Amino acid sequence: MDETEFRNWSHRAADWGADYRAGLRDRPVRAQTKPGDIIRQIAVSPPEQGETMEAIFADFERIVPDGLTHWQHPRFFAYFPANAAPVSVIADYLVTAVAAQCMLWQTSPAATEMETRVTDWLRQALGLPEGFAGVIQDSASTATLAAVLVMRERALGWTGNSAGLAGEAPVRIYASTQVHTSIDRAIWIAGIGEANLVRIPTSGPLHGMDPAALEAAIIADREAGLLPAGIIACTGGTSIGACDPIAAIGEIAGRHDLYMHVDAAWAGSAMICPEFRSLWDGIEAADSIVFNPHKWLGAQFDCSVQFLKRPEEQVRALAIQPEYLKTHGHDGLINYSEWSVPLGRRFRALKLWFLMRHHGLDGLRAMIRNHVAWSVELAEMLRAEPDFSIVSEPILSLFSFRHETAGDPDRHTIAVVNAINDDGRIYLTQTRVDGRMAIRFQAGQFEMTRDDMLTAFEAITTIARVTDAA
Ligand SMILES: *Cc1c(COP(=O)(O)O)cnc(C)c1O
Repeated sequence: MDETEFRNWSHRAADWGADYRAGLRDRPVRAQTKPGDIIRQIAVSPPEQGETMEAIFADFERIVPDGLTHWQHPRFFAYFPANAAPVSVIADYLVTAVAAQCMLWQTSPAATEMETRVTDWLRQALGLPEGFAGVIQDSASTATLAAVLVMRERALGWTGNSAGLAGEAPVRIYASTQVHTSIDRAIWIAGIGEANLVRIPTSGPLHGMDPAALEAAIIADREAGLLPAGIIACTGGTSIGACDPIAAIGEIAGRHDLYMHVDAAWAGSAMICPEFRSLWDGIEAADSIVFNPHKWLGAQFDCSVQFLKRPEEQVRALAIQPEYLKTHGHDGLINYSEWSVPLGRRFRALKLWFLMRHHGLDGLRAMIRNHVAWSVELAEMLRAEPDFSIVSEPILSLFSFRHETAGDPDRHTIAVVNAINDDGRIYLTQTRVDGRMAIRFQAGQFEMTRDDMLTAFEAITTIARVTDAA
C-alpha cells in the first residue's frame, strides 16, 4: 500500500467509525446472528493474489457489522461495559499508526514516562495515598496473575521460579465465593492448584467475605503445615457487585504477613467519586489493586491499571534480563515489561491521557453518578411492579431482579432474557444468586441517557409478561 492509499483509506476508516457510532441506536444491541452465518461468507482458502482495498472494504461492510454485538451501544446493559469513549478511540488510532513496542524505557520513552504520570493521575483520582505506583496491564486477569505470582514467591522465599513447587508445602490463597473466575485461572497458571484456593463464605448486604472465617482458615492452615500466602479481596464482584470488608481483611493480612490483592476491575472506576469510596474503606492496606479503565471509565480496551505498594516485589517475581534486553548506562529507569507477564506492550497510556484531559474528572464523575442514579431508579420502578422482585439490591449501578411466574422460575428467567435480547432494544444477561437464576442489569455505557433506562423498563416489563417458557 502506497502513502496516498494509506492516507485515503485511513480517512475512509475514520469516516466509517464515526458513521458506525452515529448509527448505533438503530441497531439491535446483541448480534442477531446464527452460528455459522459469518464463517460461511469468508473464503475457505487464503487468496493467492492480492485484492483491492475496495473489495476488502466492501466485504467488511457487508459481513462484519451485522455480526457484531455492539458494546458501544447506549442500551448495552449486559456483563460490564467495555467503554471506548470517542476521544480514547482517536488516541488509539494514533497508537495503532505509530505501532511502537513499549517494553523498555528505551523502546519508547514517551510511553513509559506518560504511563508513570497518568497512572499517578489515576491514583490521585481514586483517592489512593502516595506511595502506590501504577502500571498498565493488558487485563485484570494478567494483573491478578502477577499478584498471585508475587504471593507465591514471597511465601516460598523467592525460590518458586527457580526450583519449582515440588516438595514445598502447599501455597494457600484466600478469596470469597464471589470473586471472578480470573482468580481461579491465576491460581491454576501459578501452579498452586484450585484445591489451594480457600473459599471464604460471604454475608451481609454487600455479600462480603466473613473476616472471622478468613482468619480461622489461615490459622488452621498454618497449624496443618500449609503455607498461607495471600488474600484476594474484591470490590464489586462480577455477579452481583459483592464488596469485601477491605479494612478488616487488611488487618488480618497485616497480622499474618499475607499479601493482599484487591480486584476492583469494574467498581474501581467509581472511586473517582468520593461518595463511593466507603465500599473499599481501608484500601490503603492493600499491596496490590487492579481496576480496569477499559470497563466503566472509557479507555478503549485494553487498559487495566494495577497499583503496587512495593513494585520491587513484582519485579523480583517477574523480571528477566537477557543481554539483548539490557539497557546499559540507563540504570534506575523504569522498564514496565519487568512489572508484567508479557514482554511486548502497546502504548496504552495515550488513551488515558486523552480521556482524562478531554472529559476532566468532573465529566467522568458526572457519567458515573448518572449511571448509579438511573440504575437505582430502574430498580425502584421494577420493585413497584407486583410481578417483579429485586433479587440483589443495587451496588453502584448493578442489581439483579426476577419476573415471577407460575411455572419453573429458572426456565422462565432464561426465556425472558433470551426474548429480551432477541427483541434487540436492550441487552442484558443472567446470573445465579443463592442457587437460582436472576436477571442482571448494569448501567454503564458511556453514551447512555436516562431515556435509555426508561426504554429498558418498557422492554423488560412488556417482554417478560408475554414470555412463556413452555
Ligand atoms: C471483568 C472483571 C475481571 C476480568 O477483567 P479482564 O480485564 O477482562 O481480565 C476480573 N474481575 C472482575 C471483578 C471483573 O469484573
